[in-house]
Amino acid sequence: MDITFLGTGSAWGVPEINCDCAICREMRAQKERRDRTSILLAERDANLLIDCGPDAKEQLSRNKVKKIDAVLISHEHNDHYIGLDELFVYKRVLPKEIFSPIPVYLTHETREVVEMRFKYLEKLGVIRFMEIKPGHWFEQGPFRIFPFKTDHGTFAKGSVGFLIQGMGHSGDSVRLLYTSDFAEIPDMPMELVGCDTVIMQSFWLNEPVDNRPSHMSFQNAIGYIKRLKPQGETFLVHMGDADRVPDDPANHMAKKYEPKSPLKPLQGTDPYPIPGNQVQWQNTVDQILRDHDIPYAVRVAQDNLMVRI
Ligand SMILES: [Zn+2]
Ligand SMILES: [Zn+2]
Repeated sequence: MDITFLGTGSAWGVPEINCDCAICREMRAQKERRDRTSILLAERDANLLIDCGPDAKEQLSRNKVKKIDAVLISHEHNDHYIGLDELFVYKRVLPKEIFSPIPVYLTHETREVVEMRFKYLEKLGVIRFMEIKPGHWFEQGPFRIFPFKTDHGTFAKGSVGFLIQGMGHSGDSVRLLYTSDFAEIPDMPMELVGCDTVIMQSFWLNEPVDNRPSHMSFQNAIGYIKRLKPQGETFLVHMGDADRVPDDPANHMAKKYEPKSPLKPLQGTDPYPIPGNQVQWQNTVDQILRDHDIPYAVRVAQDNLMVRI
């Protein structure tokens, strides 16, 4: 199974428009960007798209994605579904009799929101909505998929993560876990424990005092990684710029959140530096794992990264 990280950024992408915070400044200086989070899985000529946000056109064209066999939508927030209209082009370039509507899998609650906007895509035969239930496996081509409930606040009642089983490059079965945006996995199903690869949200480095939007910080992700016990790597996605960098004048911005109790080395009083660019993110994560004796491999994903499992 090949994983392509089409985008690894938060709801508005980073650097954000008109933002002069230390994180966005650092990313601009390094010519880095994170588009809205979306993942492509490929196995035996089957392409499965996970989430389809406002950057879908650019993401699919720069990665030369020739076809999409199905789409999984994790929840009803704009940055995870508003790109569905871009799928129209996959119909337009084929003779009429060859194309069949692309199945779009989503929960009932998510469908109620997404369908209000994109019912016409179904009427025009571009997509077909397929309702899924948390805790119930379904099959799509070579993939077996297990959606599970995630708690992502009251504005995302349909939110789910996905456990995806397919064939690895060694020929053995592999299991990939994608959490989507979340603050908690209620009644975490046993199926999720011990999978091969995890893709997890890390919106902030430090858990904020007030986590109203219900996102996952790297600080809290550590606890989930320990519970999930992945056999291989965990990839961090959906990074934003909401951490406060000490002394940054932009800390007064509405999006900057006060940390509850920032991550620190076991011996020491100074919190870890807030990462801005890709190298800093990975260095900070590695340092935290080493200092706190956490025996799991965590890689900070970046846009266009491709990984074979
Ligand atoms: Zn999101
Ligand atoms: Zn969301």
